Amino acid sequence: MLPQCQYKCSECGEYYDIRPEIMLCPHCAKKQHKNEPLRGILEVDYTPVSGLKPENYIPVDPGFFPDVPVGNTPLWKAPMRGVHKQLYLKDDSRNLSASFKDRASLLVAAFALQYGIKEIAVASTGNAGSSMAAIAAAAGLKSTIFLPENAPRAKMVQALQYGARLISINGNYDRAFDLSLEYSQKSGVLSRNTAYNPLTIEGKKSAAIELFHQMGKLPDYVFVPCGDGVILGGMYKGFQDLMRLGFTDRVPTLVAVQAEGSAAIYHALKKGKFHKKSSRTLADSIAVDVPRGGYYALRQLQRYAGKAVTVTDTSILAAQKKLSSTAGLFAEPAAAASYAGYEKMKKELPENACIVLLITGSGLKDIDAAMKKLSFPERSISRIEDLYED
Ligand SMILES: [Zn+2]
Repeated sequence: MLPQCQYKCSECGEYYDIRPEIMLCPHCAKKQHKNEPLRGILEVDYTPVSGLKPENYIPVDPGFFPDVPVGNTPLWKAPMRGVHKQLYLKDDSRNLSASFKDRASLLVAAFALQYGIKEIAVASTGNAGSSMAAIAAAAGLKSTIFLPENAPRAKMVQALQYGARLISINGNYDRAFDLSLEYSQKSGVLSRNTAYNPLTIEGKKSAAIELFHQMGKLPDYVFVPCGDGVILGGMYKGFQDLMRLGFTDRVPTLVAVQAEGSAAIYHALKKGKFHKKSSRTLADSIAVDVPRGGYYALRQLQRYAGKAVTVTDTSILAAQKKLSSTAGLFAEPAAAASYAGYEKMKKELPENACIVLLITGSGLKDIDAAMKKLSFPERSISRIEDLYED
């Protein structure tokens, strides 16, 4: 059974039918200023149906979902020493294209198939693009990916390998975002731009619902790597749906972990408003000048008493190395940021707290960053005796 649902504006509360032409609330979008987060972000609002499971509250007919393994990613107890007894790793690098973004791409692809749309365009720092390319390939859809020219090579290789049309942008993610929107509007293709397409938030909520099932309860804290705020917004949407639909009675404390050089949401939570600032961090997946989902994420953080923390690039690289060498989990820098954020805050957290670190992408997507902390063998050997000679 499909639940009844509509889009609801997260700012003014107006309702809209769910259809491909509607992306933002037309009234609130008129108030949009340049260089600020998106106005009029829409949420999917459901009418509760008795007996329906939380994972069935989706706005697309399940018959249209491409049959690919996305979600249901492993959750395991962190084996590191000196951490909370109940510290868990939720490893979303184990998705089809090795990042969390597959959750949103899957829902957007299913929506495209339901409405007979043939092409999807997306701007990305790398992961959303390679993710959309992979899922589109499996769904028989065309994908056009706008990536900054300095995106990690492995993410470009992924997109090309999956058969996407790759548009390299002379500029950063923010420029790619604007150009890809212009392309979608001119060519009439579906935009998967994160925050702009409401299904990107809705797709990402599945991780929160999975956590609830996997743990048999809600965690107390979830550390979420945060750039434009849409993964954070999606996690909140999942926990909020669980509560609104009567499955739980609270929302966990989410901690937005931002790189010190790209911390717009952190600063907005402290000061109450956004200021545009050029981003600078090696964690490319969370490097944004304007967090497109910023207002939405900020509202959720304020409503549910969420927290935000910044971490330096040095601590991100240290966390990446420690996660690899103690848990066997090689995360990309943005993903390792959640562990770096936990390390920074762990003394403030109650001893018996149940804590989840969201790991959002694989380290194999950006080996240049990881190589900064490694030393390669100085010489090669041809006989085992060489090992014992000076
Ligand atoms: Zn509105």
